[in-house]
Amino acid sequence: MWEKSKALYEKAKNLMPGGVSSPVRAVKPFPFYTERAEGSKIYDVDGNEYIDYCMAYGPLILGHSHASIMESVKRKLEDGWLYGTPVELEILYAELITGIYPSIDMVRFTNTGAEATMTALRLAKGFTGRKKFIKVEGSFHGAHDSVLVKAGSGATTHGVPNSAGIPEEFVTNTLQVPYNDAEKLVELIEKNREEIAALILEPVMGNASLIIPEDGYLKDVRKITEENDVLLIFDEVITGFRLSLGGAQEYYGIEPDITTLGKIAGGGFPIGIVGGKREIMENLSPSGKVYHAGTFSGNPISLVAGYTTVSILQEERPYRDLRDKTENLVKAVREFIEDIGGSVSMNFIESMFCLYFGDEPEDYASALKLDSQQFLNFYWKMLENGIFFPPSQYETCFMSTAHSNEDIERTAEVMAECLKELL
Ligand SMILES: *Cc1c(COP(=O)(O)O)cnc(C)c1O
Repeated sequence: MWEKSKALYEKAKNLMPGGVSSPVRAVKPFPFYTERAEGSKIYDVDGNEYIDYCMAYGPLILGHSHASIMESVKRKLEDGWLYGTPVELEILYAELITGIYPSIDMVRFTNTGAEATMTALRLAKGFTGRKKFIKVEGSFHGAHDSVLVKAGSGATTHGVPNSAGIPEEFVTNTLQVPYNDAEKLVELIEKNREEIAALILEPVMGNASLIIPEDGYLKDVRKITEENDVLLIFDEVITGFRLSLGGAQEYYGIEPDITTLGKIAGGGFPIGIVGGKREIMENLSPSGKVYHAGTFSGNPISLVAGYTTVSILQEERPYRDLRDKTENLVKAVREFIEDIGGSVSMNFIESMFCLYFGDEPEDYASALKLDSQQFLNFYWKMLENGIFFPPSQYETCFMSTAHSNEDIERTAEVMAECLKELL
């Protein structure tokens, strides 16, 4: 079924560490190699077709190869693709984003989500003149030094939540709290009074399986940070334009001080965005003293793909439909799970969902108890039956507007068959 993919991976292993450009793609014992993708489907080099719920780990909320994005990018390419000068699109896109996110007065475009969180943390430290910050255990904010401590996503999947190559001195200023635990947050802040620049968190955790905030947790977090003069950074690289057009902050009615966006914001092209209140953002270079720069920052191709995506989302408001589809799938599988009484569970929030081999976790410690080997067995069975889930228990599945009701019915059936064989 996968002869060509296997042969390609054998070659790749000699040329790239682990054979890949990003760790989570190094599925054991080999990944499939993609030839093309369209709508809800992805096709590999051996001619297999899969319904895709990985969706490139989140960016493709409108599905693969969306016609309007294709059109806008093609048209933009005709004019050249990189100038090293400002373009009007930056202003248009900045206006669009600041109009959707009340907490954002100004933005800085970056190239990746990692660059956005790196810049946001530097900005928070520069603005406050403090050197410590808090992250949540198991959260993932991209692959840069200060956040690779108890990091989720591929770092957890491949057993290196604390990366080598980062001297201890670099991370002594990175403090950690468990998710869904406001008391521990208060304790930590009290122990480090006047020393903490910011708390950065994924409002809904999407990189340590899917972990949903308990009622009131995020409101408590906002209150505690505000009362203690700690900046609140919402890393909405996944949740932005996903939970709702205005992200988790709109969904939960909370205003963070700084927001990072990415993934959907680039419409499938590389992007990251730092946004926040004017008095904070103006500390970024060249108006302020916190440095950030990039050759490809604000490049017209990423901007036009992102602008088109967000404009479509704003016009069509597909969120209700996305949630209904996700709910239908989750309900169907839950019914089956109850019938067979297996030790799996499933949950969703809007168009993010996850199947857990074990109990639904509430924080990183409980997520680590999930049976990730069993998840991998499940992944392979699903793939054999034409469905592509992200290849790790520590990732989240994504519904797109391109998924049809037929796709979902088929998926529910296949999940039931695969689980029956496994449990
Ligand atoms: C994916 C992700 C990042 C990193 O974004 P890249 O574009 O991969 O650098 C940061 N934060 C969160 C929450 C993410 O899911």
